[in-house]
Amino acid sequence: MNSNADLAALIRNIPDYPKPGIMFRDVSSLLLDAEGYRMTIDRLAALVDPDTQLVAGIEARGFIVASALAYVLGLGQLMLRKPGKLPGEKIGTDYTLEYGTDRIEMHVGHVQPDQKVLLVDDLIATGGTALAGVDLIQQGGGRVEQALFIVDLPDLGGAAKLRAQGVRVASLIG
Ligand code: 5GP
Repeated sequence: MNSNADLAALIRNIPDYPKPGIMFRDVSSLLLDAEGYRMTIDRLAALVDPDTQLVAGIEARGFIVASALAYVLGLGQLMLRKPGKLPGEKIGTDYTLEYGTDRIEMHVGHVQPDQKVLLVDDLIATGGTALAGVDLIQQGGGRVEQALFIVDLPDLGGAAKLRAQGVRVASLIG
């Protein structure tokens, strides 16, 4: 497993999911591979800004990446959750997906003022989800200067939108 192309080869492409015409990049097959998962986390960890203070993962696949990264880096993890899951006082952001609309929420007070938060998800497509994550963390008082993904689908423009917001974006594949 010497290159990111080896990781890409572990991702299944599933046509017409969740809707006709969408080619779904299924990272579950990459996560299933012990060496592939370890390499994914190690290579993402090597890209993280050294002054990062907190890792934010977006439910649900983002948690799988953010949890392992936070553990490896010795940082805490902030959960950006789908609606109705958080028990405490929360703030939220609505956003448009590649296929539908959604909302993410976080607990009030779980980001410290000006805390430097790394945003993590498995994949960036149109960028709607990641931009909502940036917005939410900023609403909470944090700063997002970096976002990391396993896969970027650059033709859908999400990474460019994040960069236009001043966020440095990197991914292993795409
Ligand atoms: P975006 O908001 O950038 O259009 O879509 C990215 C979000 O939707 C991420 O949270 C990601 O998990 C999910 N997503 C969209 N398309 C795919 C895909 O092809 N594969 C995977 N694994 N996730 C996707």
